Amino acid sequence: MEIINTHTGKIYVDRELQLEFLTVGDYGKENNIKANFLGLFKEINGVENQTVDLSEKWVATISTQKGCLMKCSFCDCPTYGFFGNVNREELNYQIETILKHEKTKYTKRFNVHFARMGEPTFNKEVLDFAMYDLRDLVNEYIKAETIHPVISTMLPKNNKNLEEFIQKWVYIKNEIYNGEAGLQFSINSTNEEQRKKQFNNLSLSLEQISELSKKLPYPKGRKYTLNFAVTKDTIIDEKELSRLFDKNKFIVKLTPIHETHQAIQNGFNVTTSYEEYDVYRQFEEPLIKEGWDVIVFVPSKEEDKDRITCGNALISRNLEFEKENVKTLTKKC
Ligand code: SF4
Repeated sequence: MEIINTHTGKIYVDRELQLEFLTVGDYGKENNIKANFLGLFKEINGVENQTVDLSEKWVATISTQKGCLMKCSFCDCPTYGFFGNVNREELNYQIETILKHEKTKYTKRFNVHFARMGEPTFNKEVLDFAMYDLRDLVNEYIKAETIHPVISTMLPKNNKNLEEFIQKWVYIKNEIYNGEAGLQFSINSTNEEQRKKQFNNLSLSLEQISELSKKLPYPKGRKYTLNFAVTKDTIIDEKELSRLFDKNKFIVKLTPIHETHQAIQNGFNVTTSYEEYDVYRQFEEPLIKEGWDVIVFVPSKEEDKDRITCGNALISRNLEFEKENVKTLTKKC
């Protein structure tokens, strides 16, 4: 196994098992989040790289599939191919590896994102893992005040079990984790044409997502999240969003589209999103006026360069990137 050190943590690459997973700390919500409804009012004009403390917040991002069947046009993962689902044992293995390799034995918050390679709703083992394994496994290695698993889904239209999966996840969130779990829908645009281009026409339509969302019970704890990875060309019609989704069930989260090879190749305007708040303000203000709770999350340039964010499969990086970085940063595990 290879370990790639990043500015805020590590990426593990297990070529034999065809897995990659990530452990990182966080800069602190005062530094990379603006959310008026949480009392975080400061606009984020670029995020400074700084030391992170895992005992404050620890984020593990693991793969649920080996590669991905979706073909999101902003993500490098599909270029790796697809080699099946990650089984329950391998889900355990990823978290165990992450926990074993750190000295930290206490954290206020341990977040688990099923958001590295793959679309999690295609893998039912994720549900059993969260339900029966995750908490015992974490407690075996560290003391965590909160254990918070999060599902982020692109809402694949060819997944006949999608609704069943989401209903079960909501049950896990509300009943098993007493609200301390997340559900995020990747919406990205309120314009169907833009969505079709971004998700290569593999995601449900907004009307279908809206119908599905109406069948979900009200969330316990944190509301569900409508994710928008944006550039300045993104279309968000706040009135249309209010027609489609219930503000009492959902909040809106704005993040930049990451600088992946695919995003650049497919012409996404990704160059200014990290430093200038204007890009987010143009969406945030009308949404707040419309009554939405909005979180703006901005990673640092360094985090994006490290390819730590969802779906940017390290394994599929081009040879140049591999030569430049792996040589200098890799050590044997
Ligand atoms: S963003 Fe997620 S669902 Fe889309 S191709 Fe990448 S890994 Fe798959």
